Amino acid sequence: MRFKKLEIFGFKSFAEKTTIHFEPGVTAIVGPNGSGKSNVVDSIRWVLGEHNPRDIRAQKSEDIIFNGTDKRAPLSVAEVHLTISNEQGLIPISFSEVTVSRKVFRSGESQYMINKSPCRLRDIRELFLGTGLGGGTYAIIAQGHIDMVLSSKPDERRIVFEEASGIAKYLIKKRETTRRLDEVEEHLVRIEDITSEVRRQVKALERQANKARLYQERWERLKELELQLAIDELKSGDVRSHELETQLKELKAKQEALEKHKAETVNSLEVCNAAVSEAQQMVQQVRGLFVEHQNKIEQ
Ligand code: ATP
Repeated sequence: MRFKKLEIFGFKSFAEKTTIHFEPGVTAIVGPNGSGKSNVVDSIRWVLGEHNPRDIRAQKSEDIIFNGTDKRAPLSVAEVHLTISNEQGLIPISFSEVTVSRKVFRSGESQYMINKSPCRLRDIRELFLGTGLGGGTYAIIAQGHIDMVLSSKPDERRIVFEEASGIAKYLIKKRETTRRLDEVEEHLVRIEDITSEVRRQVKALERQANKARLYQERWERLKELELQLAIDELKSGDVRSHELETQLKELKAKQEALEKHKAETVNSLEVCNAAVSEAQQMVQQVRGLFVEHQNKIEQ
């Protein structure tokens, strides 16, 4: 496994696109203080997945984008591509050459690629786990770091040996798994909370459902009773109307009888009237005769 090429653009002091080819053997970069030598190392750390800005001597991630000089305007993007040969297959990917790329925009958006295919930062970090490269390893030793390792406490030195012996990969995986377990634990607690909340809601809904059922039953009973009442009223109405019809018939019969009686009475009256007028005529005649006789008597 060997670095083949490093391309830097917009990263810290690299305003121009810069390509460094690493030939077999040792490559040394020489330059005066502050000319940007450590920026090259920072770019390598960064493209390999470093996510702590302080480890690449920055406050925040935008600080690594070229921020301009008196003569040059600032840039809005920083990008680094690192090509590594993988002939021995130490990097767990089926390519003999691997190019990892990282880009960051001033807006804060980031892009990551492995052999030009977009991926996540995590994929890049995982790719180099156990290879000795990658964040937190001692493949890259910055200024003053050797002193720090030699003078560090046994616990801190132990981390160096763990990394060197390759178990750091498993320790990191263990940490990751423990973190995931903690997350699962948190999810479980949340699910428990949600379950008890849902249980409470279910109880309330059950109470409401019982009320609704009772209401429905009573409503149906009410309808039955109303129907029964209407039928009863109809029936009693029938009886009443039958009685009235009978009464009506009786009254009609009485009316007919009375009318007949009236006609007979009218007839008798007419007969009587005729008799009366006949009698009156006779009275007139008798009076006439009486007067005639009286006159005769007087004469
Ligand atoms: P030394 O030998 O002192 O360690 P060096 O050669 O390693 O120095 P670096 O520390 O890599 O140099 O580079 C520092 C230079 O990078 C400074 O001139 C600094 O202004 C410049 N620099 C850092 N960040 C940016 C940025 N975002 N934009 C422009 N220039 C930057």
